[in-house]
Amino acid sequence: MTPRIDLAELDPAEMEAVLESQGGERFHARQLYRWIYRRGVTDIERMTDLSRPLRARLAAEFTIGTPQLVSEARSVDGTRKFVLELEDRRRIESVFIPDTPAMTFCISTQVGCAMGCGFCLTGTMGLVRNLTAGEITAQVRVLAANTGLLDQPFNIVLMGMGEPLHNYDNTMKALRMLHSEDGFAMSPRRVTLSTVGIVPELERLAREPLMPNLAISLHATTDVQRTTLVPPNRKYPLALVLETCRRFPLKKRSRITFEYVMLSGVNDTTDDAKRLVKLLSGIKAKVNLIPFNAAPGIPYERPPDERVAHFAQILADRHVTVSVRKSRGRDIRAACGQLIVEGGTKKSAAQHMALLIR
Ligand code: SAH
Ligand code: SF4
Repeated sequence: MTPRIDLAELDPAEMEAVLESQGGERFHARQLYRWIYRRGVTDIERMTDLSRPLRARLAAEFTIGTPQLVSEARSVDGTRKFVLELEDRRRIESVFIPDTPAMTFCISTQVGCAMGCGFCLTGTMGLVRNLTAGEITAQVRVLAANTGLLDQPFNIVLMGMGEPLHNYDNTMKALRMLHSEDGFAMSPRRVTLSTVGIVPELERLAREPLMPNLAISLHATTDVQRTTLVPPNRKYPLALVLETCRRFPLKKRSRITFEYVMLSGVNDTTDDAKRLVKLLSGIKAKVNLIPFNAAPGIPYERPPDERVAHFAQILADRHVTVSVRKSRGRDIRAACGQLIVEGGTKKSAAQHMALLIR
């Protein structure tokens, strides 16, 4: 028996082609898309606007792969962290952050990450594997269904586990699937892609018809320091990343966000702030300061609030738009840089249960 085709991996055009090649009608793709994305239904037998014989035939030929929700933890601030198990039992984490002011889903693009940033827990895992486009979009389906937002607007930030530009094709395909009018009809303006700045892929991104908002994880103002914190800087140094940003086509009124994780005594000095202002000159930029979130085994500390405020003030005084990211879900390790999961061990399941009970 040939394995069944997974409809969750297909963009609308692929789904039409597959249906047709199996002797069916292309227009059923739109119905299937609406069931899967807008209504959160993955059991073909329940797709009642398809005839019974058709449902039976589709169910025999296709699956709709959806990760299993293993556990969910809720923070006192309303943030919810979902641990999802993929078909190969690998696990990923996705986070729902309410009212920021929009409803936001923080989605993973890889299991682990190859970039090895020194302050990030996901980086300590190394890269296990890329997520498929279906696994990326499925996180949105599962979160939307579990938060009652299937038919409500929400934002997506690709700031979970993994480096999206290191999994370029699957990430962009996922964005096209989410954009489909019979799916979530996501406007690319509601999606933010966060990256360390892999330059060739940034240049590819600059040519995409469906362009998400761009956030660059900068974190440092000299190459020596950035290479220590963000190892890909060795290959794509600051000047090159920033030059690519300068040329990046932006829509009217939109800007590139520069994320800057603040590490006490490392990159939080007055000189750092002044250098940052200089580096960003000529770029339509806004800066998002992210006070470091502690994680086990990570040898950095969060600066005192006054230091963060002082740093922000230096930028603001020099007309750089700046915000300080409130860390959400720290009590459930759902905040930036705190996402890590071991593959289906008893221990991690127990840990997650403990999180649930809190
Ligand atoms: N790989 C991409 C997207 C995922 S990380 C990237 O690095 O941009 C999302 C954001 O969380 C990045 O800006 C990252 O630097 C930040 N981050 C990672 N570890 C952190 C930590 N321990 N505390 C605060 N922010 C962290
Ligand atoms: Fe990867 Fe981003 Fe973490 Fe760096 S900060 S290790 S790029 S997930």
